[in-house]
Amino acid sequence: MPKANETILEIDLKALTHNYEFLKSKLQPQTKFLAVVKAFSYGNDSVPIAKHLEKLGADYFAVAYTGEGTELRDAGITKPILVLHPQKVNLATIINRCLEPSIYSKKTLLEFIEVAQKQQQTAYPIHLKFNTGLNRLGFDLQDVPFILETLSKTNTVKVASCFSHLAASEDLSEADFTKGQITLFKTITETFIPKLGYQPILHQCNTSGILNYPEAHFNMVRSGIGLYGFGNDKKYEHNFIPIASLKTVISQIHTLQPGDSLGYNRGLITKKIMKTATLPIGHADGLTRIYGKGKGFVYINDIKAPIVGNVCMDMVMVDVTHINCEEGDEVIVFDRTYTAEALAEAAGTISYELITDLSKRIKRTFLQ
Ligand SMILES: *Cc1c(COP(=O)(O)O)cnc(C)c1O
Repeated sequence: MPKANETILEIDLKALTHNYEFLKSKLQPQTKFLAVVKAFSYGNDSVPIAKHLEKLGADYFAVAYTGEGTELRDAGITKPILVLHPQKVNLATIINRCLEPSIYSKKTLLEFIEVAQKQQQTAYPIHLKFNTGLNRLGFDLQDVPFILETLSKTNTVKVASCFSHLAASEDLSEADFTKGQITLFKTITETFIPKLGYQPILHQCNTSGILNYPEAHFNMVRSGIGLYGFGNDKKYEHNFIPIASLKTVISQIHTLQPGDSLGYNRGLITKKIMKTATLPIGHADGLTRIYGKGKGFVYINDIKAPIVGNVCMDMVMVDVTHINCEEGDEVIVFDRTYTAEALAEAAGTISYELITDLSKRIKRTFLQ
């Protein structure tokens, strides 16, 4: 692999293939796979990732917002795209770009039917989102009669799927709660579908749901974080390969004397002689201030170098007193060995936040 000479996020599409195949191996052959590519494919860059997943055979995509879906359509993605949080102002665009809305309330159902009617649609695919305990978005069981009555009066829309989202699928100490969500989803769909008169796709599991609750795979599963190489559990550390490596380079090395200070707000006052390296990555790149003051770290020549002082907008300083290194040496912020999950955890957050924070200023490079 070429050494980094600037800050890059190097994405290994072979690792993406591996993670996809691993997740598929957990499913029944007929279970469909929806790849979640919201938030710039969790910071990795949506278009190349979605194109690769389309080639691998993913059945569906999901994005959070409409603009993310149009970006995929502009790039030539042809598989169905579920928009999880479409919002009223975008409903006409949803139809124009053949995106499929999540409908989660009486109001969003009526609004979408009205727009679809104006555009003279018939059987336009919609996805009904049910709330089974996350209490974020979704219809309740009591809304079923309203939905049925509304749908019986129009042929503009057709229910492509019914779905729900688990609140704590990665946390086995919450298994009772999760099982309650699964039971409620079954109750809702068993009430709804016979009266609907045709069979939509049912789906409830995210990555950790796929791994921990095979009884809830239904007809389709939705995976995001697993595709990108994280299983939210030490048990699966060896089954997933993180697809992205964040690499940078040493811009300059300083030797500080006892009592010297480092960086903005004099975030560190040295007690003894210290050698620091300045790196071209900062909070504007998504390495946020929570990683400062010794919480975060990078690796230089396979030795851990703590981030010292405050993270600046465009740069960060690390302690390299104990490391034999020089200007121009490569620095690993995370890769498949020194994982984003471990770095995030050290600063009290989760891999999801670290990787989705990585800004577009960081160049993405792809290994085929
Ligand atoms: C983000 C999201 C997912 C993906 O979850 P992972 O834990 O990343 O697999 C699935 N479903 C919904 C509704 C989501 O918002």
